[in-house]
Amino acid sequence: MTRRLLVGGAEIISLPDGSAALGGPPTAGAAVRPGVDWAGYHARHPDGFHGPDHHWRVHNGCYLVRAGGASVLVDLGVGRGPYPRYAGLEGALPRSMERAGVVPEEVDVVFFTHAHPDHVGWSLKPDGTPTFPRARYVLHRADWEEYAVRRSPPPRYVERFVAPLLALGVLELMDGERALAEEVVALHTPGHTPGHMSVLVGRAGDRAVITGDVVVSPFYVSEPEQPFGSDIDPQQGIRTRVALVARAEAEGLRLVGGHMPEPGWGEVVRVNGRRWFRAL
Ligand SMILES: [Zn+2]
Repeated sequence: MTRRLLVGGAEIISLPDGSAALGGPPTAGAAVRPGVDWAGYHARHPDGFHGPDHHWRVHNGCYLVRAGGASVLVDLGVGRGPYPRYAGLEGALPRSMERAGVVPEEVDVVFFTHAHPDHVGWSLKPDGTPTFPRARYVLHRADWEEYAVRRSPPPRYVERFVAPLLALGVLELMDGERALAEEVVALHTPGHTPGHMSVLVGRAGDRAVITGDVVVSPFYVSEPEQPFGSDIDPQQGIRTRVALVARAEAEGLRLVGGHMPEPGWGEVVRVNGRRWFRAL
């Protein structure tokens, strides 16, 4: 079954790239405040956790946004795999696209929330040509600088999945914030990486925000001030997360996470003064 979320005049289609049972909580090694009720989160979100220790079941979400006659594909998963950091996960994006009736030729824009290996994997075909033949690929310049320029040599996944796009002339490096299509706006949400971006979809009063790795688990909707071990700048990561979750609540934005239980979206609700993620 294809899972769609309608916001404003736009449609978001969930295209899962698979999920994996990891060996720790969703905080990924960060020193969180003690006393987190992991069992409680697990009970509310059975697909977001696994096992008696309530460890993280990470979901790798990609999303196609159709709006104003354009198609924007947000993130490209881990690729062919096996991806060792996700228990050898073999990416499932092509299968998910087939099931949803999405063909690579439809995609006008491939939008990377950030340049990590679990978000860029399906960029190229085995013959080295772009998987999405009509698309321009968009990445924030700060992530290019961080991973392809400042690190020498660049990580292997950057050399395999990102750098060739620039050489092929299909990678656009963007700064700041701007519209990608009608009702689709890229927001700079740094912290997880310097050029991390989220995507605002829809129109005032009926919107969603695709958060990438700003909000990776329902836990972080309730406790956005807790650190996330994969954030390159943990303090900036917390500031960005606190602000984005508060904005989602204030404006009624649906939250669409990069690693949330499938299909990946929900709303922020308040129960007895506390915020919760309620899956939709
Ligand atoms: Zn990620």
